[in-house]
Amino acid sequence: MSNKDKCIVDAYTPWQKTTPGGIVTSTGNAKHYLTGGWRADKPIWNEEKCKQCMLCFPVCPDSSIEVEDKKMKGIDFDHCKGCGVCAAVCPFNAIEMEPEGK
Ligand code: SF4
Ligand code: SF4
Repeated sequence: MSNKDKCIVDAYTPWQKTTPGGIVTSTGNAKHYLTGGWRADKPIWNEEKCKQCMLCFPVCPDSSIEVEDKKMKGIDFDHCKGCGVCAAVCPFNAIEMEPEGK
């Protein structure tokens, strides 16, 4: 099993498969932890309202604002934890929070 395979964790991973004490065993592995399962609220992006100002991008603590060709393309729900910071900073109300699973 590769080191990459060992560190995949999501909302359904049993505690027995996590590292002792939750220690980080290698660098650059955050993308393998699917922390989106922790989310209680979900950001909903309205592409029509979005003016591509990119203010949401640097404030996301989980690097979950997806960007392509210098434009916002969506939200990475595998890693977004639903903190709502992107919705709070968006000056055009292009992101709204709603309960997960609504
Ligand atoms: S802050 Fe709002 S308008 Fe600006 S890129 Fe993000 S979603 Fe679009
Ligand atoms: S809700 Fe929080 S984690 Fe999710 S995209 Fe917005 S700022 Fe990032």
